[in-house]
Amino acid sequence: MFNANLVSDKPVCIHWFRHGLRLHDNPALLNAVEDGGELYPIFIFDGEVAGTRTAGYNRMRFLLESLRDLDEQFIKDGGRLFVFIGHLVTILSKLFRELSVSKLTFDADVEAIWHERDTQVRRLCEEYNVECVEKVSHVLWDPQVILQNNGGNPPLTFSLFNKVATAVGDPPRPVASPDLSKITFKIKSDHDELFGIPDINSLGVFAESEEQDQRHNDWKGGESKALVLFQHRMRVEAMAFSCGNVMPNQTFPAVAGPPLSLSAYLRFGCLSIRKFYWALRDTFVQLNPRKAFTISVIGQLVWREYFYTMSVNNINFDKMESNPICLNIPWHEDKEKLRRWEQGETGFPWIDAIMKQLKSEGWIHHVCRHATSTFLTRGDLWLSWEEGLKVFDKYLLDADWSVCAGSWMWMSSSAFEKTLQCLKCYCPVRYGRKMDPAGVYIRRYLPVLKDMPLRYLFGPWKAPKSVQEKARCVIGEDYPEPMVDHGKASTENYSRMMEVKNKLIASGRRIDHCGPASSEEVSMFVWMPGTHKGTCSSDMETCEATDSTVCDELVEI
Ligand code: FAD
Ligand code: MG
Repeated sequence: MFNANLVSDKPVCIHWFRHGLRLHDNPALLNAVEDGGELYPIFIFDGEVAGTRTAGYNRMRFLLESLRDLDEQFIKDGGRLFVFIGHLVTILSKLFRELSVSKLTFDADVEAIWHERDTQVRRLCEEYNVECVEKVSHVLWDPQVILQNNGGNPPLTFSLFNKVATAVGDPPRPVASPDLSKITFKIKSDHDELFGIPDINSLGVFAESEEQDQRHNDWKGGESKALVLFQHRMRVEAMAFSCGNVMPNQTFPAVAGPPLSLSAYLRFGCLSIRKFYWALRDTFVQLNPRKAFTISVIGQLVWREYFYTMSVNNINFDKMESNPICLNIPWHEDKEKLRRWEQGETGFPWIDAIMKQLKSEGWIHHVCRHATSTFLTRGDLWLSWEEGLKVFDKYLLDADWSVCAGSWMWMSSSAFEKTLQCLKCYCPVRYGRKMDPAGVYIRRYLPVLKDMPLRYLFGPWKAPKSVQEKARCVIGEDYPEPMVDHGKASTENYSRMMEVKNKLIASGRRIDHCGPASSEEVSMFVWMPGTHKGTCSSDMETCEATDSTVCDELVEI
């Protein structure tokens, strides 16, 4: 791999990128450059790294863009990123030997699925007498520290999590950026050929649809883009703080507007969570010197922490069976229904537009995630959340192991919900109309409906045949009939859920199942615009499962 003239007498350090794809606030990388020796920044495609096993085209492209951005940043200081494809241990051992490596540094991957790999790598370091430096900066609080401070257990409610985190203390502030001018890089002239960033197709990943190359919102991976978007986001936050608001993109969820999200950048570590947290907190305090800082300013970031912590010692967190916090619910199996949902062919334009956006762009707003996940599970189709998770895991840019599974469990009432108390479902007609009142979102992602009058856009099967013909969208020919009768299906599913609940109560067994401590907690998670009261209230976006007429009425404006 390397020839002898690359070997040096200076200390040689490898910084191994997995997540944490950034130079700023990267304590492990900072440690790597401290000795002022030789640095090899590497990335290894081992078939698993950074969730690549389940990643489809969107997320793999985002990852490759992020690696290109890192490479370009190293080039500015005379370095390069070294990319390898193959078996992790074989590659690392070879590098340790050939480069006489003295230190390996990496940002800790805190999720349970990475523990075994990293234990193996720590052992390998011992074997080769390589110092192994691992730093936690992908999360605000080290989940193991939270657990230690909670008697060794994950805190079962969000408010308990907050209490424990408060007792642990403020999260660390970001560290300085590394001074790459202090270190030596040794680059070979055939670097690109040997260690260049691979083409996406050579990794066996291909576009799943043409739309993926004609995205309306063109997410591009990498730290440079993350920092530009971060500056913009902070301007929006500052404006909201000045007007007495917090969480601007949730209070006014603009599903068709330019997204303010940084979630994919946080997921790959292109943006430091600690940088985001402290910027929000400092800006709030600066603009509101007389107001107390409360969790609502940074609440969403803490939900992310909560899911990371809840999953940290639970290798089955993404499964129903053998997952102690997940209720076993007898979901149906139906491949055709699942296919129609995934393809955006349910016949409900709001749900289908969401699925089209997910598949083509890899990002959908939180309210859209709610709508489509309840539709698949307890709302309409009664299919397993594990199937929904697989689809999100393929297409979503920000899908990570813990947050995605945790959110699916919550949305399907499988966990994070107090003994199935919150059973109202979202109406796929009414909720859509509320979130996309002018129909811009639906028309953008479902062009087949672009000429359908707004009056029928959310329930086009209700349009008279002449209106359908005029809109060049005949239901059943150009666009599918609704695959379920929402009123009927949601009523049946409500009864099924009550049955699950009654059986649980009759069994007398303690439900080892985490849940929200209060309705405020639910509303923080659920983001109901305007009300912030959540699905447990009688918001007009949700519908009583027992009321089958409500959705039909709403087709008429
Ligand atoms: P912001 O309001 O800007 O929030 C800031 C950051 O906080 C987000 O970028 C994200 O990192 C975190 N965050 C926000 N809301 C939540 C939440 N409810 N739970 C945990 N973290 C949160 N988020 C992911 O990051 N990865 C996932 O795989 C994921 N899967 C989801 C699956 C389902 C079924 C649902 C309902 C939600 C899921 N979410 C996931 C949570 C949430 O929808 C996204 O984090 C959010 O939409 C990202 O938009 P934003 O960056 O504008 O959020
Ligand atoms: Mg279970």
